[in-house]
Amino acid sequence: MVAAVFITAALTHCINHLHKPENVPGIRVSFIDVGQGDAILVQSGVCSMLIDCGEEESASDVIHTLKSHHIRHLDYVLGTHPHSDHMGAMARILDAFETDEILVSPVPEELVPEDAFYLNMLETARKKGIPITQVSAGQSFDIGSAKVEILAPVVDGDDLNNCSVCTLITLGEVSFLLTGDAETDEEQSMLDSGELSGVSVYKAGHHGSKTSSGEDFLEAIHPDAAVISCGVGNSFAHPRDETISRLMKYTDNIFRTDLCGTITIESDGSTFAVRTERSVYDN
Ligand SMILES: [Zn+2]
Repeated sequence: MVAAVFITAALTHCINHLHKPENVPGIRVSFIDVGQGDAILVQSGVCSMLIDCGEEESASDVIHTLKSHHIRHLDYVLGTHPHSDHMGAMARILDAFETDEILVSPVPEELVPEDAFYLNMLETARKKGIPITQVSAGQSFDIGSAKVEILAPVVDGDDLNNCSVCTLITLGEVSFLLTGDAETDEEQSMLDSGELSGVSVYKAGHHGSKTSSGEDFLEAIHPDAAVISCGVGNSFAHPRDETISRLMKYTDNIFRTDLCGTITIESDGSTFAVRTERSVYDN
């Protein structure tokens, strides 16, 4: 268990006011409110990685958030899996920011989408000469002083959710487990690989769906805090009550983008602090 501080503040206001430098001491992970979807900005030192970017209509919000953090360049843009609520805005992100490398999941040929958002992403990457690299379990790289380990996919998924790239990002004693839309099958493959242990922050898989965050998986990762990225009144009824109940066996610190807006977690490697765009009591 890592000591944590939970603060609610007007996030955007603070950032504009303080003119935070681009050089982030420790690590900052921002779960950007993109409604029903995922968009996660990871910063450490002068390095940054964007994991997913929401639907195409969220592009302006994501671009605005990145610019508010003085980002002009992204070391990595990682698409967990090619669904539009994760990669819909990617072509516009690649247009707006100089990007070194795109990381994607290995997707079986029969599952590769032909949707416009995906083809636009490929075309923008080609035009700008950005390499696209498939990543899977066992690979690792650094973002500033933080280590990024790819925990999944371990095996080919039989649907796109279970092809999600799952990352464990660690700085000192503090860790973030981000599992895209991984469901029970992919969670089981991570359990089988024996690589899971306690984490500080868990981004609940698939927006808090009942088919993710299984009991055995949560028992292995024992999160100190959880983040759920989902839209207000979404048609999937995410997050599901049973998922919240399962999470609450481990932590009462559950932050939801539909209630809190953008959620920002900063750490020096020994403790972490959570800031939210708005208080749940504002809703
Ligand atoms: Zn999704």
